[in-house]
Amino acid sequence: MKQTDDHINVAIDGPAGAGKSTVAKLVAERLGYIYIDTGAMYRVVAYKALASGISPDDTAEAVRTAESIRIELRPGMQRQQVWADGKDVTDVIRSASVTSNVSAFAANPGVREILARKQQEMARKKGVVMDGRDIGTHVLPDAEVKVYLTATVEKRAERRFNELPDGTMSMEELREDIARRDDMDRNREHSPLVQAEDAIRIDSTYMTIEEVTESILDICSNVMNQGVEQNE
Ligand code: C5P
Repeated sequence: MKQTDDHINVAIDGPAGAGKSTVAKLVAERLGYIYIDTGAMYRVVAYKALASGISPDDTAEAVRTAESIRIELRPGMQRQQVWADGKDVTDVIRSASVTSNVSAFAANPGVREILARKQQEMARKKGVVMDGRDIGTHVLPDAEVKVYLTATVEKRAERRFNELPDGTMSMEELREDIARRDDMDRNREHSPLVQAEDAIRIDSTYMTIEEVTESILDICSNVMNQGVEQNE
């Protein structure tokens, strides 16, 4: 029997600024899937904790913060809208102070466990495109499509610079921030940023958003077609 409507899960991992969110959102729209920005979830925890005077070293309090927050991700025109405890935090979670502290909160294994559980629950029914650092390796190890999206640090800083409102951060500050976050994300003990063995690597340095989106959609349709053939 043909099962053309079988949904799959798509995991897109990679370092900061590789274009994951933009591309993941477009892939989800084209497939009619739900897009989940897991970086935004870590940012919410960092934002809430910092607003309550909790530092990343306060590991138990950071875990309590992650446990108690209600995070909602809602579709938006430009980017996903992020709500925490009934308040729109879409913009404030992109502030320089959240950006420079988020990786330290994300290194906390208790925080990771709580957020990974929420993410697994969101993907349970399939039909999600989830972007992050540990989705293919840890959160959704059985995702049918796994992509590792990367680009040079220079290119990633340039893209972030063009995304941010004028004067938020200089190009040099962004380059340093990205390199520092990459380093922390790659070298943390719990679910570090690493390419899953079965992930397809895409280097987007010289690719347009449309080209990257199309490549991922091709990978998805190959996997979906294989599923159909196996069911015939
Ligand atoms: O994707 P974005 O750059 O907004 O993510 C912010 C931070 O959240 C990352 O630098 C990383 O420290 C953390 N993160 C993570 N695991 C994920 C997603 C994000 O550790 N799955």
